[in-house]
Amino acid sequence: MQGKRVVVLTGAGISAESGIRTFRDNDGLWENQRVEDVATPRAWEVNPGRVWRFYQARRRQLSEVEPNPAHEALAELSDGLEHMVLITQNVDDLHERGGSQDVIHMHGRLETLRCEASGRYERRMKDSDLVDDFLECDCCADPQRVRPDIVWFGEMPMHMNEIYAVVDACEVFMVVGSSGHVYPAADLVHIAQANGAHTILVNAEPPLNVDYFDEVHLGMAGELLPGLVQGWLAPSG
Ligand code: NAD
Repeated sequence: MQGKRVVVLTGAGISAESGIRTFRDNDGLWENQRVEDVATPRAWEVNPGRVWRFYQARRRQLSEVEPNPAHEALAELSDGLEHMVLITQNVDDLHERGGSQDVIHMHGRLETLRCEASGRYERRMKDSDLVDDFLECDCCADPQRVRPDIVWFGEMPMHMNEIYAVVDACEVFMVVGSSGHVYPAADLVHIAQANGAHTILVNAEPPLNVDYFDEVHLGMAGELLPGLVQGWLAPSG
């Protein structure tokens, strides 16, 4: 891996061992809610209170969870390689707290809230920002309601130009903890493979797109990744 252009894409599975529940492992429910009821623009239109309370609970949960050895191993890998880009579908901040910098959050972030009028986002994690009542922005003269700074199902993921550019150019593409159900993230491995990259998977079980991986490591990311990273960073790795 040394000297190569490496891209890593993570999904909910990498945060599972930290105590944040994944999405597909639980019969299509996310924290006992149907995705259609809490993670779509339509849900926000029809029942914003339910959506807001769901995400405020997710935001409060961040202070109760810690990064696990898989997050730390990817930070170590990035420190040890010349060119590595980390893209995550996750909205938690566990990569950053595990030591990674410049993480591309393609589905948004829990720590920031977005003004519905201006589209500006701001980090809002004080106790007063974590309440179940709606909050207003600090950016408009007439303060407007803020929404979760999350890409809901049916919305365009963030930073796609940058993501396609780095995936197009990469020589190694690795996915950790993703079921291959959510597009366009699930397509990135196809693009990388078509461009001749070596593709690696670390996942608890074979995902939908397993056939696109050259190297498959099945198991818990927190158990497997530290050893794999040691091997890749060893002088001959
Ligand atoms: P997913 O929930 O659809 O799939 C998770 C995958 O991880 C599964 O294939 C599962 O077998 C695997 N997995 C579970 N535990 C694992 C472990 N310990 N080690 C390795 N693999 C493990 O996740 P997804 O593909 O990321 O898609 C879900 C969507 O929901 C994403 O867009 C994401 O934004 C959102 N989401 C985010 C979080 C988070 O931020 N932590 C949590 C739930 C859902």
